Amino acid sequence: MTQTPPPNIPTFDGEEILAGIRRWVEIETPSHDGAAVNRLVDVVERDLVRIGARTIRTPGRDGYGDILEARAPWNRDDEPGILILGHLDTVHPVGSLATTHAFRREGDQVFGPGIYDMKAGSYMAYYALQHFVRRGRTTALPVRLMYVPEEEVGSPTSRAAIEAAALKSKYVLVMEPARDGGKCVTARKGWGRFEMTITGRASHAGLRPQDGRSAVRELARQILDLEAMTDYDTGITVVVGTVQGGSAPNVVPAEACASIDLRVPPTVDAGEVVQRILRRKPHDPDCAITVAGDINRPAYGKSASITALFEHARVCAAEVGFVLEDTPLTGGVSDGNFPAALGIPTLDGLGADGRGAHALDEQIRFSSLVPRVQLLVRLMETLG
Ligand SMILES: [Zn+2]
Repeated sequence: MTQTPPPNIPTFDGEEILAGIRRWVEIETPSHDGAAVNRLVDVVERDLVRIGARTIRTPGRDGYGDILEARAPWNRDDEPGILILGHLDTVHPVGSLATTHAFRREGDQVFGPGIYDMKAGSYMAYYALQHFVRRGRTTALPVRLMYVPEEEVGSPTSRAAIEAAALKSKYVLVMEPARDGGKCVTARKGWGRFEMTITGRASHAGLRPQDGRSAVRELARQILDLEAMTDYDTGITVVVGTVQGGSAPNVVPAEACASIDLRVPPTVDAGEVVQRILRRKPHDPDCAITVAGDINRPAYGKSASITALFEHARVCAAEVGFVLEDTPLTGGVSDGNFPAALGIPTLDGLGADGRGAHALDEQIRFSSLVPRVQLLVRLMETLG
């Protein structure tokens, strides 16, 4: 892998890559619309079959789209290999293309719904596989692509499939977007989601306020307690993102609820933090609290094997002609959390560079496409 010139860095066609990304972007795929996601799964499956990949499609559950897996034509399935992960859903509703997120190119910036997170990266994985087929080349390790339909809502129906595939793999490469000028991701916090429900006692706000027990008041105190768990030194953060409560302006509120977002770094015992949230006690003994939830994505720490994989990727990037760096621990999670937490060497953020994930100005840098496909190709052919 240190030969110069490297044996397999042919010319890649950025325009062809972008045309393929555009085809995938222009099929809108909000996570909750399984039928819409499956329209793209149909296209991706046809693309994969056309290059000779063997596909396995698992029907979606709970209204989500299907999970699509593909094996490289040359694979020997019994050997642990390289798992490349992507998701085909986005956070943008159908109709975004026609209104807020028209596909357009301005110089090096290319805009579109979900183009950065992560249609570009998902397509780049396909394109890299196609590259091997076109060149009549193979990889030392078997290669498996997996596209999931609902990463943006926490992969509730695909987590088990991701973990099962990861456990049969030697390496996992995640095509989530690159950060801050092309950095990849080698560590992510864990993510927990909770719902708190408080029950008080209703009463007339004017006639008998003293008989009421305000669930909203109790919730207000709970919010302050919960957010006080945030500790920027250790990296734990707790945010109450939504609240609801009360029934009418002149009634002491009997019900209130809140959703809680927890992020925990790999160095912290997540179970202990989870218990602190689940075991909240009311300040007002006449109010009752229930909390439901758990860690959704376990933390992803930069282990020795992840460090080694990253160092290898740096060598590959240098051969391609750029310096690959990694970001400091990020609070953003991905499906990369699952394999990394299982101890499988995982490298994330290998997709396109750009910015504005989930935002109105979501965009990729056209100039990042070719070098990052080249990096992926080099990883696929050098990992052994
Ligand atoms: Zn994503």
